[in-house]
Amino acid sequence: MDISKTDILIIGSGIAGLSLALKLKDLGEITILTKKRAFETSTSLAQGGIACVMEEDDSFELHIQDTLAVGDGICKKEMVEMVVKSAPERIKDLINWGVEFDRDSENPKKFHLTLEGGHSRRRILHVGDYTGRAIENTLIERVLEVENIKILENFLIVKLITEDLLKPSRISGAFVLDLIHVKPVIFLAKVVVLCTGGAGKVYLYTSNPDTATGDGIALAYQVGCRIANMEFVQFHPTCLYHPKAKNFLISESLRGEGAILLNAEGKRFMHKYEPVKKELAPRDIVTRAIDMELKKTGAECVYLDISHLPSDYIKKRFPYIYETCLKFGIDITSQPIPVVPAAHYLCGGIYTNIWGQTDIPNLFAIGECACTGLHGGNRLASNSLLEALCFSHQASLKIKNMWNELKELKIKPPLIKETAVKEIKEEKIFISHNWDLIRKIMWDFVGIVRSLKMLEFAMKRIEFIKNEIKENWSGIYLDLDTMELKSITIVAELIVRSALQRLESRGTHYLIDYPFKREKYQKDTIIFKNF
Ligand SMILES: Cc1cc2nc3c(=O)[nH]c(=O)nc-3n(C[C@H](O)[C@H](O)[C@H](O)COP(=O)(O)OP(=O)(O)OC[C@H]3O[C@@H](n4cnc5c(N)ncnc54)[C@H](O)[C@@H]3O)c2cc1C
Repeated sequence: MDISKTDILIIGSGIAGLSLALKLKDLGEITILTKKRAFETSTSLAQGGIACVMEEDDSFELHIQDTLAVGDGICKKEMVEMVVKSAPERIKDLINWGVEFDRDSENPKKFHLTLEGGHSRRRILHVGDYTGRAIENTLIERVLEVENIKILENFLIVKLITEDLLKPSRISGAFVLDLIHVKPVIFLAKVVVLCTGGAGKVYLYTSNPDTATGDGIALAYQVGCRIANMEFVQFHPTCLYHPKAKNFLISESLRGEGAILLNAEGKRFMHKYEPVKKELAPRDIVTRAIDMELKKTGAECVYLDISHLPSDYIKKRFPYIYETCLKFGIDITSQPIPVVPAAHYLCGGIYTNIWGQTDIPNLFAIGECACTGLHGGNRLASNSLLEALCFSHQASLKIKNMWNELKELKIKPPLIKETAVKEIKEEKIFISHNWDLIRKIMWDFVGIVRSLKMLEFAMKRIEFIKNEIKENWSGIYLDLDTMELKSITIVAELIVRSALQRLESRGTHYLIDYPFKREKYQKDTIIFKNF
């Protein structure tokens, strides 16, 4: 089997992985692995922008308060403070790397800032309505200029290699599938950093790209890392409802600029659920309101209407959304947009400290796969790109600090025989059927509104699928779908087990048996593997 050596192995080519590589570029040889093309990430799909205190009427204190309020009692204040206060420096990093945020048309010395739900001030920097794509492309360009950083596309990591198989121990690398040449490869490294993104694909309806199968969380769980707060799945209230539109998000910034929600009868309804903030209430409130309206009216979607704003303004401010909707026959300058909620962001993940370090000192986790304590029970809009940037900076400081010690590290190749890798012999329908089943179970029973009965029902079904996988497909398969099925099954189980532990309604976790917040509540819902 091929064995490749590198100093730092980064898994994932979104904002977390790319920005970390740039921060560490002078340290040694860096390899970034990504299971599809480099730009196929959630980062590329981000529309709204990135939050940062920029104006005099705003303050760090206000941004901290907004983050804590939306996080609903679960955020870690020291993490929130670090992120909010270092945001201006991290935005400067992006600008220095070449990201050109939109400027204010009346005062080009200033940036144009937009407003999103849960924010008390305009503080979202953006590039049109394709901020993520602008950031992703710029970072890829910068990374490609650096000689000692390699990006390897279509390389799927399927297992972390530990020094000891029977207890949590140092990581010596990763077991990887080269999906183009259909062969296994071992990568040995002194530091491994999981930047694998979220897990929206665990749900039937999601705004996430196909890459978001929670692989990093499943991998870290399997080697004994703590996984935290998985019950907090954020559903975005407004994804385009159209049979041919896969996962297309209608950004929150439309509501920030004045778009209103209408039910199937053409009536506004948000005032009934949040009389003050209405359409600008935090996402979980807007999502549950839409869910209630859909259940009440039996309609398949609600509508988001921005057509009262001048047509030229809409086209200039939201060019990507305007063009995309037009392709589906919807002219947003004159028609309301049919929308439904969809799984959007995972607030929980691999438990890390303020340096992005997991329970295993040479394994880091950054970006959406991590649970840093910033988001708590719910994420404030546009805080996640920022989180990835701030924690990649933090991790870079820690890795530099540990470098002399790491340099001396002798890494032993693992005793894995090539024969351990198998090919799927039976029809692929067994795999695709279980894929669909998991996603439907999660949507129907572990979605926007949950009950204990539904969670227990889901748990039994997931257990059944887990056992079926163990009996039929244990080990490593040369096949993306099979390996991803294993990840979504582990992640689905972690979400349900966490949800069953939190007997209250808080943040994005709404349990009809306990529709209130408990005075004494557990801060973090922690799950780890017993060896
Ligand atoms: C539609 C949409 C709009 C959004 N809008 C905003 C916004 O406006 N503002 C904001 O702050 N946030 C937004 N978010 C959230 C934000 O985009 C993500 O949280 C963030 O980009 C995550 O970055 P990341 O680097 O952690 O992961 P990603 O950008 O998702 O990158 C993950 C990488 O890991 C790789 N990977 C995964 N598993 C494996 C494996 N097993 N082997 C090899 N590679 C693997 C993937 O191929 C990919 O390269 C949005 C998200 C979506 C989906």
